[in-house]
Amino acid sequence: MQVACPSCGAFTAIEKAFCIRCGERIVPLTRYDLGAADFIYPPDRDAMESLRGFEALSPILDELVVKRYIRSALSRLEKSSRHIDFSSMLGSMVRECGIMLGLQRLPKIYLLEEDLPTAFTFGTRSRQFLVLSSGLLEILDDDEVKAVIGHECGHIKCHHIKYHTLAEMLVMGAELSLELVGGILNMVSPLLRLMLLSWHRESEISADRAALIVSGDPAKPVSLLKKLARIAPISEDRAVEPLSTHPTHEERINRLIEYYRSQEYAAVRRKVEWRLEISKALTPSCRFCGGAKPIVSLFCPRCGKSQI
Ligand SMILES: [Zn+2]
Ligand SMILES: [Zn+2]
Ligand SMILES: [Zn+2]
Repeated sequence: MQVACPSCGAFTAIEKAFCIRCGERIVPLTRYDLGAADFIYPPDRDAMESLRGFEALSPILDELVVKRYIRSALSRLEKSSRHIDFSSMLGSMVRECGIMLGLQRLPKIYLLEEDLPTAFTFGTRSRQFLVLSSGLLEILDDDEVKAVIGHECGHIKCHHIKYHTLAEMLVMGAELSLELVGGILNMVSPLLRLMLLSWHRESEISADRAALIVSGDPAKPVSLLKKLARIAPISEDRAVEPLSTHPTHEERINRLIEYYRSQEYAAVRRKVEWRLEISKALTPSCRFCGGAKPIVSLFCPRCGKSQI
C-alpha cells in the first residue's frame, strides 16, 4: 500500500516507513518506537540538562553561527560530494536505522569524494545532513558501515546535532575563518566551552549505544572502533582530554561492552525486536477485511482481528 508523504506529497510503500523522496516519516511514531530516553548515556542526558544555560544565547547562535555554518558547509558539499537517494543501498541502511531508532525524519545523505575516512552529521534540530567519505566506505564492510550510520542516527535521535556543530566549531574555530563566528564564540564563557566539550565526549557514548542497537551484535561496532583507532591520526588519541571532542577508542569500546551486558540493553533489544515484529500491523487498513483502521492500532476496529 502506498501513502502520501505529509511533507512533499510523494507516494511511498508504507512498509518503507519514510518518504523515499524527502525522508520524512510516513508512519507516525508510536509508543512501540524507541525513545532517546531508552538508551541515552545518563551523563550525556545530565550534561544536556546543564547546557540549558546556553539556551539564552540560542537565537543569536542559530541566526549568526549555526545557519551560516550550515550554508557554507552545504555549498562546499555541493562541489565535493554527491547526494545519495533513499532507494540506494546506503539509503536503505539509513532507512533501516531510522526505523530501529525511531527517527522523525531521515538525514539527507552525501557521499564525499575524499580518501580520508570520515563520517559526520551536522544541521539543526529539524534538518540534518549525514556525510560519509568514499575513503571510509572503502575500508569498512557492510556491517561496519551500518554501525557508523547507527552511530550518526543516534546523535540525531538524542538531539545532539546543534550543540555538536557548536562544539566542533569551538575546536576548529580557526578553520572557519569567519570573524563574526570568532566574536560570537568569545561570548561563550570558558566554563561553557569546557562543559560543551565534556558533554560532546559523553554524547559519543550514547551514539555508540545506538550503533550497537542497530547492529544487534557488539562485534560490529567494536571492529569499527578498532579500525578507526588504527587509522586515526595519533594526535587525536593524544589530545589533552578536556579539549578533545571524543573519548579514546579504548574507552568507547569498554563502555560499549559494559552496556551490552546491562539490563538496560536487554530491555532496549526486546523493544526493538517487538517493533520489527509489529511493523506489518502498522498500516491504515486491515490486512483481512480491508477496512480503515488507525495506523497504530494492532486490531481492526471492523472485524476485530489481530494484525500480527
Ligand atoms: Zn516526502
Ligand atoms: Zn559521534
Ligand atoms: Zn478487519
